Amino acid sequence: MDHQGRQHQQDLHIAEQVRTDQLQQLFRQSMSALFGSYLAAVMLVWLGWERFDHNVVACWLALLAVSMLVRGSVFLRYFRSPLAERTPARWERPYWLTLVSSATIWGVGALAVIPANDLLAQALVMLFAVGMSVSAVSCYSAYRHMTVVSIILVLAPCTVWLLFQPSTLQVGIALAVMVFASFVCQATHTLSNALEKAYRLTHEIERAHTLSTYAAQTDELTGLKNRRAFFEHAQQTFKYCERNQMPVCALMLDMDHFKFINDTFGHPVGDEVLRQIGRVISTSLRAADIHGRLGGEEFAVLLPNTSLEVAETLAAQLLRAIARLELEPVRQVTASVGLAHADTDGQDLHKLINHADQALYRAKAQGRNQVVVAEAV
Ligand code: GH3
Ligand code: MG
Ligand code: MG
Repeated sequence: MDHQGRQHQQDLHIAEQVRTDQLQQLFRQSMSALFGSYLAAVMLVWLGWERFDHNVVACWLALLAVSMLVRGSVFLRYFRSPLAERTPARWERPYWLTLVSSATIWGVGALAVIPANDLLAQALVMLFAVGMSVSAVSCYSAYRHMTVVSIILVLAPCTVWLLFQPSTLQVGIALAVMVFASFVCQATHTLSNALEKAYRLTHEIERAHTLSTYAAQTDELTGLKNRRAFFEHAQQTFKYCERNQMPVCALMLDMDHFKFINDTFGHPVGDEVLRQIGRVISTSLRAADIHGRLGGEEFAVLLPNTSLEVAETLAAQLLRAIARLELEPVRQVTASVGLAHADTDGQDLHKLINHADQALYRAKAQGRNQVVVAEAV
């Protein structure tokens, strides 16, 4: 995949993470709406009890109670589901459906209870409907469209009805409600944008941090650990082996006559050889082994919980795999290995690596393309 394609895919991944954050925020933030909208209706009914039709009111409250229970079950299922399953694809739809139905019941119900010839009761209902729409911002601000849609569903039935009433006062109330609602929608827009930006920035910073950590630890040419990362990881593994009294070995590997390869075929060919060697090292060893490129054409490996005999076998296999590489135009490349065992060196990683290095020197002196084990000191 080219750079642009990778970038595009990472952007999509971040967009998906942002949506998941928004969903999480929505569920956490709107818990209060679950009971809040029902309580608002109950309070409105209590205040206007003398003025409303009791049958309509009972029907309205019953429908609201049912929608509250359905919404409650969605919340319960969401919070009980494992984190990995709390995805927008799975939860946005049920949330939307229950929100739209409960906001519709609220708005249409408010219109049904509004008495046609009681101005005070009408103003009371509108006061509660406006209050509901303001609360919607605090509950659904993570999703701008949800906030706006729920405000419209709650306010529209009564507002539109008032707008077509004969009294100027009624039309005035409707117009005022529309002005308030537009301010609330504006505030929602700003708030949800700010939230989305904050989520996106958080994920972009996380991604940048992961990339910079990777770059700081990785040798660009071979993809292996660089010198610093090798010693960091090797030190931890070495200490672990020490604590658990496990045998540990280290090997140093240096390409034979590498200067000749560079001089004969050019630096880019030398680079390709190093890449291939990196691949052989990372695929030939076991998962627990720590390996890295210390610099130039020199590699180091720490073999935890490994006896000297096993380490010798692994080193010999590694050299055979390198000798088998068919690299055009170089043909054959070989390497030399120095091997040391922690028991012979006292418990110090740098000392162990040093002894492996001295053994490597001897492997070079003895004719290259071989493994030499460090002498016990
Ligand atoms: P020996 O068998 O004794 O190890 O001989 P050698 O030629 O491999 O040893 P020497 O240390 O003299 O040469 C190492 C060469 O590796 C010299 C240097 O230019 C080359 N080298 C170091 N880093 C890189 C690299 O990143 N890419 C390439 N292509 N060459 C590199
Ligand atoms: Mg060399
Ligand atoms: Mg060298």
